[in-house]
Amino acid sequence: MSSAQIERMQEHLRHLRLHRIGSLLESSLEEAAKHSLSYSDFLDGLLTQEVASKTEKNVAMRTAMARFPFVKTLESFDFAFQPSIDKKKIKELATCRYIANGENVILLGPPGVGKTHLAVALGIKAVTEGYRTCFTQAMPLIASLTRAYAENRIEERLKFYCQAKLLIIDEIGYVPIDRHGAHLFFQLISRRYEKGALILTSNHSFSQWNEIFGDPVIATAILDRILHHSTTINIKGNSYRLKEKVKAGLIREPEIEPS
Ligand code: ADP
Ligand code: MG
Repeated sequence: MSSAQIERMQEHLRHLRLHRIGSLLESSLEEAAKHSLSYSDFLDGLLTQEVASKTEKNVAMRTAMARFPFVKTLESFDFAFQPSIDKKKIKELATCRYIANGENVILLGPPGVGKTHLAVALGIKAVTEGYRTCFTQAMPLIASLTRAYAENRIEERLKFYCQAKLLIIDEIGYVPIDRHGAHLFFQLISRRYEKGALILTSNHSFSQWNEIFGDPVIATAILDRILHHSTTINIKGNSYRLKEKVKAGLIREPEIEPS
């Protein structure tokens, strides 16, 4: 094979943006000749490499765009420590079918039981399956909607939060939301209703959401839409953070409440 031909192939590969094949071309040609690979095996091998490289890049890009606070996976979640979680439910959620159907997931439980860990881990599954995902905490989300409203940009902001196929809103209820914020939050929830999936986390049970949103009518309207097509995971257990402190000898065992 002439070097002019190699140069021409490289030019074509650059034009087609098949960069992984470009970097493997010469060594793959040599290998193919040495092992008398069939044409189909040769082409299949190169195309598989290119697809793997493109998938990896897309996942990395979507992960960066999602703005996760950390990267945690389902594989690193210790289900034995949290027996109140139905592992089958989490396995089903890991298929991402709920995203395709525009359904919601609500993770409830006290601090430290793994709500954010699971929300991020499901977000990573979503990103891997090709879904555009956005992670935010409730307070910055409400602040951003309130600011956008004051600056006459609320439409644009609502559209932004509706673009992601999966929107994760962490920590609902840590700080009460004012009436205006609750109205804007309701608008977002209504827009996404049956169209885009949500994962919400909260340390408050649904009966306490009236207090979070300061208005029972709005709280009911929000819950009505969120819960219509949804899976709730109610985590009742000890804080994993405390378990780690016990292990490190920072506190004594009895300080952990029995489950
Ligand atoms: P929450 O959001 O419920 O307050 P987090 O998800 O932030 O709790 O969990 C606190 C810390 O403990 C995180 O570092 C998380 O990765 C870890 N963690 C919580 N539960 C588990 C678990 N069952 N297995 C492994 N790590 C866990
Ligand atoms: Mg959390």
